[in-house]
Amino acid sequence: MSQLRSVTSIANIRRILQGHIPGQLIIQIHNRCNAHCPQCGMRVSSKIERSKLDPDDIKRIIDAAAARGVQALSFTGGEPLLFQKELIPLIAHAQQAGIPFIRTGTNGFLFRNSERAGFETAITRLAETLARTSLYNFWISIDSAVPAVHEEMRGLPGVIAGIEKALPIFHRHGIYPSANLGINRNVGGPYHLSPEGELGMSRRFYETFRRSFQRFYQFVLNLGFTTVNACYPMSINSHQPGNLQAVYTATSEDNVVNFTTTEKVLLFRALLDTIPEFRSKLRIFTPRSSLYALIRQYSGDETFAYPCRGGIDFFFVDSADANTYPCGYRGNENLGKFWDPQFKPLDQEPSCTECDWECFRDPSEMAGPFLTVLRNPRSLLRKFKADKIYAKLWWQDWRYFSACKFFDGRVPPDYQKLGQWTPPPEVTDATSETSIELAK
Ligand code: SF4
Ligand code: SF4
Repeated sequence: MSQLRSVTSIANIRRILQGHIPGQLIIQIHNRCNAHCPQCGMRVSSKIERSKLDPDDIKRIIDAAAARGVQALSFTGGEPLLFQKELIPLIAHAQQAGIPFIRTGTNGFLFRNSERAGFETAITRLAETLARTSLYNFWISIDSAVPAVHEEMRGLPGVIAGIEKALPIFHRHGIYPSANLGINRNVGGPYHLSPEGELGMSRRFYETFRRSFQRFYQFVLNLGFTTVNACYPMSINSHQPGNLQAVYTATSEDNVVNFTTTEKVLLFRALLDTIPEFRSKLRIFTPRSSLYALIRQYSGDETFAYPCRGGIDFFFVDSADANTYPCGYRGNENLGKFWDPQFKPLDQEPSCTECDWECFRDPSEMAGPFLTVLRNPRSLLRKFKADKIYAKLWWQDWRYFSACKFFDGRVPPDYQKLGQWTPPPEVTDATSETSIELAK
């Protein structure tokens, strides 16, 4: 609750009235990893230059972030828990600096070998350590509903059994981890399109992912997760020409995460349609209005989605040299050190929709109508009137976020509140709710 109080502070309200939203900073504390994910350029076999920020520099960044009103801070890697002894004091430092929403996560390597003596003691120690901090969200990456596929992709055998054992321990300590799905072709199991039938290619692709997302949500629910997020695939490649130059190397040219524009429309549509089935059972971060806006964008309506706040309210710090960038994918726009008194956010209207990085795109979309109503209420009314589906989805998202207590990862879900999101049987297939026709 103190987090919510902080967001509604006078300083934040003033910021919103000035056309900004509470800031977000993602600090890549290092880029070292022990996993083998084909979808990521930081996998252990990658021949990239490895780097790690000095903890004192990170503290300077945190202090500057707090002074600039940053409200959400993520410590990412690489694998953040490789340097757990440094990470925990940094979380404490951010807490003392007054940053309310602090997040970090893991690829789950600590959950391997869960049969070994001492596993439960080790996880209990980790849970106790995290519980002593004000960490708001703790994510555990999961790539597929099929354990063997996930473990093969990550190169972390046995990790799923360990996660299943670890979750009750975390819950007992008031930590409710989020399953973090990096959307890829293997979400529902080894990727293959079902045999061609009467349905066209697009329909088969859509149906495959629809089933895959269903399987995935059911899988993480069965494992014991209460919360789930989806990272949209970072297809920065020939399918998506633009000016992007990734500084955050969590990208890959591998086919497993590269989707054409047509595939993205179908993929986002499949997720949009699957979420309502699980909103009463899991706290699902993914806002449907954001998926809808991305579908519109990739269907050719390029100005429909609210542009990203990267470089304006949201920033990324690179582990190579502690420099700040508008995001992890605009590496040609070095904004300098966040702690530098001369540091300035980009002084321009947001305009970028070059990628689908949900960390920045989702909150930009959710905040967009609020900022518009202050500056140009008529244009928002026109947008809502012209597209009532979008207006409804956006309003539903805010109501749902509220029912999820804004994804407070330190409290269990309120299933009574979530129960209101049980879909009536006739709209379980939410295709009736949205009017975007699937391409044939
Ligand atoms: S996705 Fe995460 S766990 Fe996998 S290689 Fe990249 S940094 Fe490591
Ligand atoms: S859409 Fe946002 S995250 Fe993506 S490249 Fe643009 S500013 Fe960066």
